[in-house]
This record gives sequence, structure tokens and C-alpha cells, in this order.
Amino acid sequence: MTFRTRFAPSPTGPLHLGHAYSALLAHDMARAAGGKFLLRIEDIDQTRSRPEWEQQIYDDLTWLGITWDADPTRQSDNLPTYRAALEDLWQRHLLFPCTCTRKDILAAMSAPQEGADPTYGPDGLIYPGTCRNRSRPATMPTDCALRLDMEAALNRATDFHFEETGTTPGTIRFDADKITSTIGDIVLSRKDFPGSYHLSVVLDDAAQGITHVIRGQDLFEATKIHVILQKLLGLPTPIYHHHALIRDDQGKRLAKRDDARAIAKYRADGAGPQDIRDMVGL
Ligand code: GLU
Repeated sequence: MTFRTRFAPSPTGPLHLGHAYSALLAHDMARAAGGKFLLRIEDIDQTRSRPEWEQQIYDDLTWLGITWDADPTRQSDNLPTYRAALEDLWQRHLLFPCTCTRKDILAAMSAPQEGADPTYGPDGLIYPGTCRNRSRPATMPTDCALRLDMEAALNRATDFHFEETGTTPGTIRFDADKITSTIGDIVLSRKDFPGSYHLSVVLDDAAQGITHVIRGQDLFEATKIHVILQKLLGLPTPIYHHHALIRDDQGKRLAKRDDARAIAKYRADGAGPQDIRDMVGL
């Protein structure tokens, strides 16, 4: 098995030290294994993605000494693949249309009969099920969100696990019983885009033949969603390597808005690529 990994940034802001760590680590691991390193631009958030941020990604990575082994792919070029997968799940009665706003969800969750306080999972608020049992249109709607009926999905697959080589190495098994309450009916298609991060990432990793996914520990719980989707869609599960996060001086995880840690800022201040490697401990 040739080692194939990828770096998959969203062009919605400058790359910062955390991205540099993730990209360098994946690149170094691919080179050490004699494998391939690919680049994928995750631009499904069409309202925030900008061509100038995409260009900045290429410039910063090149400056860091990173090379990629094929032309970069862009999620906005893959819409037919996402639509086909959604149609497949729809035909198998695994999706339902949802017209709830965030406000509706919060209101349903705090209604006395629902009891519990709003809880969050790796896909945000855990959906209280409001639209789940509404009558089903004959064809898949495209003017609203589509959610995965998690309970139905979990009945179609068994043996949920993935191999982890990062911070908690070993075989990670997870219990389907808990998924409905800790993750819930996740959004797989949005009103303005036929796909969601979870759907597109599993389809793109499979299309690019990714054998090793190297990314931050913040996505560890989301990997459970990805394994479920891989099972439902008949896709292979890569090996996962969730790495520690780069934090600021207060211990907070770096975010896109942390422009002070932007690679471009360090470059402008005269730092070199080796300084960045030193800063992230590589
Ligand atoms: N676009 C995602 C991000 O920037 C990538 C997640 C992944 O590597 O799967 O966080």
C-alpha cells in the first residue's frame, strides 16, 4: 500500500502556525514513507472562500518547502460526486429534509417536554429530531438542508472502528448506541450547497486514494462520523493520525482570526522556514 496523505485547508483566511504544523507533519511523513502528499482546497463554504486566500495557501506552502504530487483539487469542482452520494442515501431512506433554523433547534431543545439543556457534538448542536418524521417528498429536495437519519444509518452497519497512530494510538472502537445521543442527525447537505464538510471529506479522501489522514486532534470526534459515512457509502476507512494542536501563550487553540500567528506575518517579519519548524517543534 503506497502511503498517500493530504493537506486540506479551507481558503477562508490566512494559514497560521497550526496549519503549518499539520501540513509539514503530513508532508514529512509522506516523504519519509516514500509516499505521496496531495493538496485539496476545501472551499465548500462559498460565502467565505476567496481566490486570494487560495493563492496565499500555495505561496505559504511553497515557502515552507512543501511540494505536492498532483494538481490540487477543489471541492467546488466535485459537486456531481456529492449529489450522487446524496441521491444514493436518499433512495435508501437514510436522509430527511430539514427546514429548522438554529433558533428553531435551540427552542425545541429548551422546550419543557424535551427536558435537557442544548448539547453539542462534533457537528454542533445535537439535533432534537423535529423534522425527522415529517412526510417524505417523492424526490430529494434541493431547497433545504438534508440530515442523516442516524438511527436508521446505525441499523445498516456494524463494527465501528478506525486505526489511530496519533496522540492515542491503537484501534479506536466506538459504540453505535451512544452515537445517536452524542452526535445525532448530522447535516449532509446545506440549502446553498449540495454537501457538508463531513460528506465531502469522506468522498474526496476516497477519490484521492488517501491511505493516511493526518490532521488535528480537534477532529478526533468527527472521525466517528466519517467512519459511519464510509461504511454507509462502501468506502475504505484510511488510517488516522490526529496530532496535538498548536496553542497560543494562553493555551488556546489557534484560529483563522489569529492573524498574529499567520505564516505570512512571520514571513514579512523576516522569519525563515526553519524558524517555523522550530516554533512548532518539528
Ligand atoms: N478543511 C478542514 C480544515 O481546514 C480540513 C479538515 C481535514 O483535514 O479533514 O479544518
